[in-house]
Amino acid sequence: MDFELDEIELMVQRTARQFAEKDLVHRADQADDNKDFCRESIELLRRNGYLGMIIPEEYGGEGMTGFHYVIAKEQIARACLSTGAIFGAHNLAIYCIKLMGTEAQKQRYLPLLASGERIGAFALTEANTGSDVASIAASAVRTDGHYEINAAKQFITNGGVASLVVVFAKTDRAAGHRGISAFIVDKHEHGFTVAKEENKMGIRGTSTGQLVFENCRVPVENRLGQEGDGFKLSMMVLDRARPSVGAQALGVAQAAFEAAVRYSQERVVFGKPLSEQQATRFALADMATQIDAARLLVYRAAKLASAGKGRFSKESAMAKLFSSEVAHWVVDRALQIHGGYGYMKEYTIERLYRDQRILEIYEGTSEIQRLVISGSLLK
Ligand SMILES: Cc1cc2nc3c(=O)[nH]c(=O)nc-3n(C[C@H](O)[C@H](O)[C@H](O)COP(=O)(O)OP(=O)(O)OC[C@H]3O[C@@H](n4cnc5c(N)ncnc54)[C@H](O)[C@@H]3O)c2cc1C
Repeated sequence: MDFELDEIELMVQRTARQFAEKDLVHRADQADDNKDFCRESIELLRRNGYLGMIIPEEYGGEGMTGFHYVIAKEQIARACLSTGAIFGAHNLAIYCIKLMGTEAQKQRYLPLLASGERIGAFALTEANTGSDVASIAASAVRTDGHYEINAAKQFITNGGVASLVVVFAKTDRAAGHRGISAFIVDKHEHGFTVAKEENKMGIRGTSTGQLVFENCRVPVENRLGQEGDGFKLSMMVLDRARPSVGAQALGVAQAAFEAAVRYSQERVVFGKPLSEQQATRFALADMATQIDAARLLVYRAAKLASAGKGRFSKESAMAKLFSSEVAHWVVDRALQIHGGYGYMKEYTIERLYRDQRILEIYEGTSEIQRLVISGSLLK
C-alpha cells in the first residue's frame, strides 16, 4: 500500500501542524496545573474547525475522512497530547451517531457537535469493568416511550465538560453482550451529574469524569440502532478510532524524538556533543526507525477504516498496540538521553513520559489488542 500523501492530505497535515505550533505547543506544559485548560483546548479546536472535521458537510461539518482525522491528530498530539485526547473523545460520540444514527438523529445532533454547542463523550467503562464490556451493570428500562437509565460510568474523557454523551447500558440483562444498547444523552435535555473528576498521572489537561445517570429519562428516539446493538456499535467505533489513538502515539513519539535530537546536539559530554557519541546516534536511529514502522501500521489501518469496507479489526488493533508501545519506548529513550534534566519538570520530556502512558490503556489495553489480533489470526 502506498502512503504518499496526496495534495489534500498534505494540506490537512500542514494546516494542523501550523495550528498546533501556533496555538498548542506553547501551552501544553501548563496542562498540569490549569483547571481551565480543557475548555480552552475545546475553544481552540472549535475556532479552527476541528470539532466537525469528520462530520459530513450536509450536517454542518468539514466533510473530511477518518484518514484526514488521523493525519491532523498526529500533528495536534505532537504539540499537546491532552488536546489530542479531548479531540478523540468528542469524535467517539460523533462516530457513534455517524455509524448507527437515524437521519433524524444525525440532523439533530451532528450540527450541534460540529459547532461545539455540544461536546461529545463516550461512556462505556464502569468502576467494576473496563475490558470486559459484556459485564457492564448499567441498565436502561423501557417505559412509555422512554428509557430510564441508571448508570455510573468511570474514567470518561471529557466527562466534566461533555454535554452529549453516548451511554451504553443493558436493556436485557440475561442476553450478555447482546443485551447492551446505546443511547444519546443530551445533558441539556436529560441531565446527568459529574460525581468526580480524576486526578491523573498524565494528560492532565483533559477532564476524566465519573458520570452518574440516575433515573435519567431518555426518549426512545435517542436509542442508537436497535435494542441489543450497543456492543456491536462500541466495537465498530473502536475499530475506527484505534488508528487515531495510534496517531496520538505517533505525535508524542515524534515530539520526544525531536526533543532528544535537540538535546543531544546541545549537551557536551567527554568533550563533544552527545549526538557525536555512537551510542546516542544508534539510539536516535532506532527511535526514528520504530516511529516510521508505527506510522506505516497506523496509516494502513486508518486508510482501511476510512474506506470502511471489509474487516479491519486486526489491522486497527495492530496499529494501536504497536504505536502505543513504540511511543512508550521512544519517550523512555528520549528521557534517558536527557539524563538528570529529563527527570525535571522544566523539561517537556518529563510531561511526555507521564502523558504517553495512557496510550497503552484507553480504547482497549495492549492485552485486549493482543486478544483481538490473536482471535482474528486463529479464527
Ligand atoms: C485517562 C483515562 C481516560 C479514559 N477514557 C475513557 C472514555 O472516554 N470512555 C470509556 O468508556 N472509558 C475510558 N477509559 C477507560 C479505559 O478504556 C479502561 O480503563 C480500559 O479499557 C481498561 O479497563 P479497566 O481499567 O477496567 O481494567 P481491567 O479491565 O480491569 O484490566 C486490568 C488489567 O487486566 C488486563 N486484562 C483484562 N482482561 C484480560 C484478559 N482477558 N487477558 C489478559 N489480561 C487482561 C488488562 O489489560 C489490564 O492490564 C479511560 C481510562 C483512563 C485511565
